[in-house]
This record gives sequence, structure tokens and C-alpha cells, in this order.
Amino acid sequence: MTATNHKIRLTFWGGVDTVTGSLHEIEINGRRIVRDCGLFQGRRTEARRINSELPAPPADVGHIVLSHAHIDHCGNLPTWARQGFRGAIHATTATVALCDVMLHDAAHIQEQDAAYLNQKTNRQGLPPIEPLYTAADADRVMGLFRGYHYGGTAELGPGALVTFIEAGHILGAALNVFDLETDGHRHGRLGFAFDLGRHGLPLIRDPDYMEQVDDLVLESTYGERVHSRAEDAADQLATVVHRTLDRGGKVIIPSFALERAQEVIYHLAQLFADGRLPETTVYVDSPMAAAVTRIFERSEHYFDKAFAELSERVGRVMRPPFVTFTSSVEESKAITASDAPCIVISASGMCEYGRILHHLKHGIENPRNTVVLVGYQAVHTLGRRLAEGERRVRIFGDWFRRRAEVVQLDAFSAHADRNDLIDYVERVRPRRTWLVHGEPSARAALAEALRERRLTEVFLPEKGDSVDLA
Ligand SMILES: [Zn+2]
Repeated sequence: MTATNHKIRLTFWGGVDTVTGSLHEIEINGRRIVRDCGLFQGRRTEARRINSELPAPPADVGHIVLSHAHIDHCGNLPTWARQGFRGAIHATTATVALCDVMLHDAAHIQEQDAAYLNQKTNRQGLPPIEPLYTAADADRVMGLFRGYHYGGTAELGPGALVTFIEAGHILGAALNVFDLETDGHRHGRLGFAFDLGRHGLPLIRDPDYMEQVDDLVLESTYGERVHSRAEDAADQLATVVHRTLDRGGKVIIPSFALERAQEVIYHLAQLFADGRLPETTVYVDSPMAAAVTRIFERSEHYFDKAFAELSERVGRVMRPPFVTFTSSVEESKAITASDAPCIVISASGMCEYGRILHHLKHGIENPRNTVVLVGYQAVHTLGRRLAEGERRVRIFGDWFRRRAEVVQLDAFSAHADRNDLIDYVERVRPRRTWLVHGEPSARAALAEALRERRLTEVFLPEKGDSVDLA
């Protein structure tokens, strides 16, 4: 796409009728600003094409504004750097710190993936495949970041200012409002509300409402679903842990390394402190979760009052005495080999790779154990098969009888549900709302609900659509 005469133009490049690969562009007076550079996750060939074919020459983009450190929002930044982006990346200070861990881990996965494919292509005499990006590209990205606090603003060249607003989603996550003007005329406020969190999540504060927004780009991930209350998560966890420990079993918790693992630690710290659970050994068996937890320990100023109260009572909430962070493979093996009751938090959250597979392999056939699913489980993942109650599952190529109890706790979600999304629009009252970041049925359901309430004019853009705001 080339720069045009339109003064302010918004283009929906990615994460439009799907939840990964978030990418939007604002063009103002011929200059380009990008919001989020998420990794598209899907079938390998399609994902590679979508992630490597960038919609604008990266060298032409001056500024990238980043919402948060989830890979579907930040994970393609190294591709932009690899292909020539040298501008500034604006994010909250916590997001910058988290991106260092997340992007280097993502680069490692890309390098491993290319090496695996090259083993095959070598044999067929084909030219080697290059990784989408490498650790060196992730290093380059980290040198471009500028950090802000909530409420802070960044100048993105003449006529463009962005504000960081509390998203209530994960540590450091921000909603953004862009104040845009051309030729000295104010052209209104453009808000991006994704990823939008929810009220009552542990650790972080609730989402803030943007003010006087004319155009709102809003997510619709759970446009057709209502969650259990976030406040119920601790009760749900206590019930299942109690039951498992009573029968002398292990609690195995597949968890995302970012946020969910720290939420579980927080809930356990509170449940132990309140005497609602007997204090039990907890292993966090994920080097990445350990690295992320260290950033949480340095980020207490981002947390809510309940966190401050708990740390007053128990001391170091994120590193309590009952938690052991394992690092070596030997330590990890010792836990899998033991049948002693304990709680194990390990990654990956959908049981696709990582140390969790060893814990499942050793623990899945024991009826005293429980596998507790605390995150979203995508189709075709082992986590999803467990959630759906399959009795035989394949791990590392071998079949296992699933005798352990499997429980999915639905109060754990970092995303606004249907009611939260409607509430957000009711409070913000934008003139126009652009629904993105949702599967087609979720987007359509939310559009219908908003139209029925006549709160705003609702649009469902397609990937690649542009709209002239001025
Ligand atoms: Zn997110």
C-alpha cells in the first residue's frame, strides 16, 4: 500500500475476524503509525506467509504502539525489525520488561522450528529455510522500546498523540487513545480497546474507561459468552485442590507462563494464609514462568489494593516459602518421579510442548491425581482433548489411559466477556464502533447486541479494509 492523500486513515491489517496476529495502521498526513504487531498462529505454511509478508515497508513506519506482551500482540515485532523497522516502539514499562522474555522465547521457538524443518529439507536436497526471526532480531527490537506509565502520553510526530490506559488484562497491558489532528484541526479521538480485561482479576487493577472517544476499535473474543465471576477463581481452585490432596494425589496445572502462573501462585498464597487449604508444596516447573515471575516481583506498583494487603500479611506474595521454582531438568525429573502429593504448575498452557508433557505422562494414569485446566484450550491441542474428557490421549507418541480427574476452571479468564464488552461501550459511548479480534460468530453476536441497544453505530470490517476518519 502506498501513502495516499487521505488525511487520517485507519486500516485493519490483522486480528480482525480471528484472535491472533493483531495489526492495525493509522495513516496521518502520509505518515504511518502501527498499533500492535502480533504473531498470527495457525497452520504452519499459512502462518509463515501471513507473518512474513508485512503490509507496509517497515522502514516507512515511524512509530509502533504496543498494547501488551502477549505473543498474538507483540510476537511479530522481530519480523518488522528484521525487515528494516528502525522507528520507536511505545509501551508501558512492564510490557517492555515482559517483551524481553516473551520475544526471546519466541525467537528460540522460531529457530528450533526452522532447524527441525531443515533436517527434512536437507534430506530432500532442498535449500534451507530461514527462521522467521532470530534472537538477534529480538535484541534489535529491545533497543527500540520507550516505556511509559498508565496515563502517560507519547508524541508520534505532528498531530498524533497516544495515551496509555489501564486495560485490566495482564501486567502492563494498555488500551490506547489516539488524539489526531491535521492542519491544526482536531479530528477526534480514536480508541483501541483490546485486549480488554475484566473486573476483579487478581493482582492487577480493573480496566479504566476512555473518555470522549469518537471511534472505538473493540475486541469481541467473548462476544457470545459470559464467564463465571473472576472472584470465584479462588473458590474453584480451593475445592479441587482440597479434593485431590484428600485422596493423596497430585494437582497438575498446565499454565501459561505469563500472568496465569502468577495468578495461581497469588490465589494459593491467599488460600494458605486464610487457612482454607493446608499448606502444600508448590512447584513452578517452567523456566519461563520463573523469569516472568521475577518481573512481577519488580512490578508491585502495577498491582491493586488486595495485593498490597496480602503482601502486608504474608511478605513476598510472588515468591512465598511454599513455592519452589525449579530450573534444571534433573529437578523437574525428580518431581515427575515422585508420587508425593503436591501442586505442580508447568507450561505450556495448552499442553502442546514443554515440561508439562512429562508431568502428564507420569501422572495421567493415576486416578488420585487431578489435571486442572486454567486457561483457554484451542482446538487440536492436548489440553482441549483433556477438557473434552477423552479417555485415551497421546503424549510423546505413546498412548495413555486418562485416569486422572480433569477439571476446567472457567473463572480464570483475562478477557472481558459479552456483558463486560457491552458495559464498556455503554460507558464510553463512541459514535462508531469497529468490532475486531473475534471469531466470526462472536463478532456477529456482539454486533447484534450493540445494535439492539442502539448505543453506537457498529461496523464489522474485513481484513485489509480501510476507513477514512478525516
Ligand atoms: Zn492478551
